[in-house]
Amino acid sequence: MTSPPPAGAPRSRRGRTLSLVAPMHNEAAGLDALFARIDMALSGLGVALEIVCVDDGSRDETLARLRDRAAADPRVKVIALTRNFGKEAALSAGLDAATGDMVVPIDADLQDPPELIAEFLALWEQGYDVVYGVRSDRTSDTALKRTTAGLFYRVFNLLSDYPIPASTGDFRLMDRAVVEAVKALPERNRFMKGLFAWVGFRQAGVPYARPPREAGETSWGYVKLWRFAVDGLTAFTTLPLRVWTGVGVVTALLAVAGGVGLIVRVLVAGRDVPGYASLMVVLLFGFALQLIALGVLGEYIGRMYHEVKGRPLYLVRERLGFDR
Ligand code: UDP
Ligand code: MG
Repeated sequence: MTSPPPAGAPRSRRGRTLSLVAPMHNEAAGLDALFARIDMALSGLGVALEIVCVDDGSRDETLARLRDRAAADPRVKVIALTRNFGKEAALSAGLDAATGDMVVPIDADLQDPPELIAEFLALWEQGYDVVYGVRSDRTSDTALKRTTAGLFYRVFNLLSDYPIPASTGDFRLMDRAVVEAVKALPERNRFMKGLFAWVGFRQAGVPYARPPREAGETSWGYVKLWRFAVDGLTAFTTLPLRVWTGVGVVTALLAVAGGVGLIVRVLVAGRDVPGYASLMVVLLFGFALQLIALGVLGEYIGRMYHEVKGRPLYLVRERLGFDR
């Protein structure tokens, strides 16, 4: 989805600030490695650095470690949420708090290599507003995860009016203008990849091999991933709702044709009482279709209810390092 080289004056990184936004849920084991890699990869880039760490209700030492970091390192800012709100909400909290001219959401487990940010930055200087990482090599994921993820992107892009480039995550560099656009979106359901695609701007992709998790373990089971996928789909397409009109029309036409056929057969061949099996099949099939349609309605209505309540996306218990 790389758009053609943008027109206009190239930008300069000089005097600019880059914000890293790292959502963290039980990441204490990998924190030292994370900060070491960030220092190594980014200290020579010629931009000022801000590291916004969002503790998403960790139950390990994450917050305590972050407190020490923030006390020792003026670049580190910490937002502690009141409980585990989920990655999308944690990311929103970080984006809301980041002050840099460019913002890079980054996983805390070093699956998003900080070294790639140098390339992101170079493309930003050429005038791209969004430079995203493309996972060209996902061998670190299990075969099942790769297959289901691939299937999700295919289905999503088939149904959604705003395609997301396959195998992208939240790891990307965004210009301040893009961040403001994303922040201004009022919806509660934050399917970030979808929102990032929806806002548009000039976008470019950079391929990278996604390494395995450095330490700790993934917080995403398959149930959570399924819910994430349904969240994403319902937020960006209403086709599952609308398709029932078509299904209904086709079923009705079939029913009319079948009815006419039956009448003709009775007229020609006389009455035919047996038919229990076919009757049951049609009945059960029709019944199942209706239940599916109702279920789809439920998915959307539930989400509308969620939006209408208008609860905040996240609650902050503690903010560290913002007043210096
Ligand atoms: N994460 C979070 N809240 C959650 C789950 C995950 O902030 O409820 C963070 C996690 O700490 C990590 C990032 O989101 O920095 C990606 O999570 P993870 O590595 O578990 O996902 P995977 O890479 O397996 O998709
Ligand atoms: Mg990970």
